[in-house]
Amino acid sequence: MTLLLNADLHCHSVVSDGTLTPEALAARAHGNGVQLWALTDHDEIGGQHRAMAAAHALGMDYLTGVEISVTFADTTVHIVGLGFDADDAQLAQGLSATRGGRGERAQEIARQLAQVGIRGAYEGALRYVGNPELISRTHFARHLVETGVCRDTSEVFRRFLTEGHPGYVPHRWATLGDALRWIHEAGGVAVIAHPGRYRFTPTEEYALFSEFKQHGGQGVEVVTGSHMPSEYPVYAAMAQEFGLVASRGSDFHSPDESHTDLGALPDLPGQLTPVWKLLDDRILRAPRPPHEALQQ
Ligand code: AMP
Ligand code: MN
Ligand code: MN
Ligand code: MN
Repeated sequence: MTLLLNADLHCHSVVSDGTLTPEALAARAHGNGVQLWALTDHDEIGGQHRAMAAAHALGMDYLTGVEISVTFADTTVHIVGLGFDADDAQLAQGLSATRGGRGERAQEIARQLAQVGIRGAYEGALRYVGNPELISRTHFARHLVETGVCRDTSEVFRRFLTEGHPGYVPHRWATLGDALRWIHEAGGVAVIAHPGRYRFTPTEEYALFSEFKQHGGQGVEVVTGSHMPSEYPVYAAMAQEFGLVASRGSDFHSPDESHTDLGALPDLPGQLTPVWKLLDDRILRAPRPPHEALQQ
């Protein structure tokens, strides 16, 4: 089975740690041939109505999206939610609680950076923040590149902000069970984001997939800008082993930083069921132009 649908179900706007507005992302996705799009900001659904309106104005179908930060086995894991009700109060409340604490964490990151001689990083990072409730390590990374401390964001995450380096502040995010409950009770489908990115032992990875299934999780990202192509078959096999549908998304953050552009990904391996097959009645379809409607 060849999948001709160009779906991109993972990217970030200025509402979290991307550099483009939801409208600019929609235009870029559409320009790159994306037919089904989801904006998945970190821990925040404030951009959903804008993204949907922009997608529909361009004739592009839309799925609501979010990427929730979860702590599992003392590691940060990301869970993408798709096709939920963007006005669901419990989901909004859960995400708000998940975002709380980012401000204090950022102050602590800045204190640690000051100890190694990098002063004013909190104020510097704030200059890149589009949503005051969502200051992330990405904003610190942009500041450290802009001020010449590092050449690019990859170097920042090699030298700072990660375990064993200055500016690493462990943080307790949502639990796996809560994140999946918020997504499911809002009518959505949960997807394990970029599983190849976590530094799990095989036993821990198995535990993540098993517990995700036990909580009713249904999907896993296989083709993502956050995987190396060699990881696609690895997670295609995991999807089959655990009976999960597969998702596809660029994880695009910025034209200057992201290696994978919106929509610029290979198709899902043919033996997998794409996540959008489960979400047919949750797709917010763009109004068709009048001449197409007349032909029906
Ligand atoms: P936070 O939610 O504040 O912990 O920030 C996490 C974000 O940092 C991720 O969503 C990525 O956008 C970014 N990030 C984490 N690790 C890396 C890395 N090695 N290279 C580039 N960006 C990274
Ligand atoms: Mn990010
Ligand atoms: Mn992620
Ligand atoms: Mn992401």
